[in-house]
Amino acid sequence: MTCSPVRKLHQPWRGTQRRGMKKTGAVLEVLKSCPVKYSYYRRPGQTLVAPHGIRRLYSTCRTAPCGTFKHLGKAQFCTLSGTNCCVRQPHNSAIPKDNRRFFSAAKSGKYFLNGGTSCTGRYVGYSHFSTTSGTEDRTVVIIGGGISGLTAAYYLTKVKNLPFDKIVLYESSDRLGGWINSLQLDDGTIFEQGPRTIRSPTATPAARATIELVESLGLVDDVIAVTSKEPAAKNRYIYVDGKLHALPNSLFKTLSKQSPFSKSLAHYVFKEMSIPAKSTSSDESVYDFFSRRFGAEVTNYAIGALCRGIYAADTKLLSMKACFPSLLEAENKYGSVIKGILGSLTEKTKPQNVDSAGDILGPNGESRMLQRAKNERWSVWSLQEGLSQLPVALASELKRDHRVDVQLNTCCKEVNFRGSKAIVQTEKGCVEADYIFSSIYAKTLSQLLTGVSKLNSLLHSIQAVTVAVVNLEYSDLEFKVEGFGHLVPPDQPSNVIGVIYDSCSFPDRVVGNRTVFTCMLGGTWFKEQFGDPDKVDPDYLTSLAISALQEQLGITQPPCRTYIGIQKDCIPLYRVGHTEVVHEIFQQCKEASLPLSLLGSSYKGVGVPDCIFNAKQEVIRIVKKINSN
Ligand SMILES: Cc1cc2nc3c(=O)[nH]c(=O)nc-3n(C[C@H](O)[C@H](O)[C@H](O)COP(=O)(O)OP(=O)(O)OC[C@H]3O[C@@H](n4cnc5c(N)ncnc54)[C@H](O)[C@@H]3O)c2cc1C
Repeated sequence: MTCSPVRKLHQPWRGTQRRGMKKTGAVLEVLKSCPVKYSYYRRPGQTLVAPHGIRRLYSTCRTAPCGTFKHLGKAQFCTLSGTNCCVRQPHNSAIPKDNRRFFSAAKSGKYFLNGGTSCTGRYVGYSHFSTTSGTEDRTVVIIGGGISGLTAAYYLTKVKNLPFDKIVLYESSDRLGGWINSLQLDDGTIFEQGPRTIRSPTATPAARATIELVESLGLVDDVIAVTSKEPAAKNRYIYVDGKLHALPNSLFKTLSKQSPFSKSLAHYVFKEMSIPAKSTSSDESVYDFFSRRFGAEVTNYAIGALCRGIYAADTKLLSMKACFPSLLEAENKYGSVIKGILGSLTEKTKPQNVDSAGDILGPNGESRMLQRAKNERWSVWSLQEGLSQLPVALASELKRDHRVDVQLNTCCKEVNFRGSKAIVQTEKGCVEADYIFSSIYAKTLSQLLTGVSKLNSLLHSIQAVTVAVVNLEYSDLEFKVEGFGHLVPPDQPSNVIGVIYDSCSFPDRVVGNRTVFTCMLGGTWFKEQFGDPDKVDPDYLTSLAISALQEQLGITQPPCRTYIGIQKDCIPLYRVGHTEVVHEIFQQCKEASLPLSLLGSSYKGVGVPDCIFNAKQEVIRIVKKINSN
């Protein structure tokens, strides 16, 4: 499939008009959005009978929304005579700033203006319009309709001076949401196949950005929170040596010895403060860092289990710098993780405008939900009908904006860069993009980009793990353990990563006397334990999950419903050295001035809030950059 070539038409009247132009007292006129390439002049007050091309242009312009010309500042569409049309600054001389900025941008060829001179506060100019493929719209393409791509599209629509006319989002599958996938069963029960809970908005700027997004989408009444008083917030377990062990959840409990730890947690905490810091700030594995500072038990049982829960990965592979940057920083700054945590509590936290979105996206009022989360002391939250409500709400907001074109079942096959543009080839055709936000997995992107071999090999080096997610529903179960769920440390002889007690966190989401669990298997151990994800028998994995619930939770009865998804390459693996790889990737894009931003879980955080926060920040950064040029 090929793109239509740029049309360069003969411009028979160009030279004569230029010679006849009197450069005094004229107003700047800029014509854009034309289907052919022309230069066009007119004198103020003079009515030109425009040649054919211009007449055609006029009808194109007439149908284009004024928003098309937003990048011209206060530029407006106006008709000077029946046949002439122009886009011009409002007719007064009090707009030199916008005009000057535009003028210099135009001179550099950005807006296709070839020349002009200033006169009595106005500009004399002539317009030279250029176009490709029959349309002059500035197009931004978003690859991938997961939470990152949708968030980017959403915030692009909210930008005050959007430097694009069209936002095209391509999603290869038949649904939006990516890994966010809440299955709503006929009777209303929810099975989450992907993420199920989001951290409290009080936890991090990213978590805060997430609740702000929820708020702006009008989903406030659908938020269901787990508050710190509830068992699902207080009780988290690890399964060690054939038994469930509650992790200490109060200061009092950290002072006494709690199995499976051989000493109290307080012992490890005090000891850590006396261990000298590493002399270099180079990256190391999560395993090495925690073993060095807290010893093998804490590393294995607590951190090993935690990393299985978040990254489905082995601590010996994971990068400390990428996964726990603040703890690494604490060691560097204070000489100890615990001293660092205490120090940050006493340090005056300056209120910072983390996303500086105000000037681009409009004022962001105080988040009501943030206040609610503080008052009610949320631990985690979700949405009434599952987290898929979030992409669904984003999609319906996007639908309302005429500039947005969401194309499902449209896989991007190739992206190549031509000058300042990118040609995106999909299975259905191709589009010339002025900018691209890619939100797909880095390795997949590396197979799309052409002519950037170093960048591709870096993108290709980011691996991801496969997780089997088994939802299990039981009827009339007398289940005694209350809590969020349990994780299995990596040294234990079990092939499940962990089990989440869904109906304990969100009892309203199950019907009648049912109990829902989700069991996760695989991660970095998938191939070793189960072989090729494409060939493994899903029934076999479901039977392993049922056995695990029997063995670890004592549930002997069979489930009444199960569902399994084998999520291939679903969580990027942040290996030691990941931040350097990401830095190099971003550097490569910058050096080559690629019109490309990289979003999604492959780079700077795997959680939903990270994806949302990074997508929003990048939209703000790019819009600012383009608008300031
Ligand atoms: C099992 C599981 C549990 C998780 N639990 C949690 C949790 O509890 N809390 C939390 O915060 N996070 C959790 N996460 C992480 C979180 O869900 C993901 O990081 C996040 O959803 C990633 O979103 P994304 O938009 O960056 O990428 P994706 O969701 O991968 O979206 C990318 C989209 O691009 C599409 N695509 C791919 N290739 C192409 C192409 N060539 N052309 C067009 N489209 C393409 C895909 O179909 C997909 O829809 C979990 C993840 C998994 C897998």
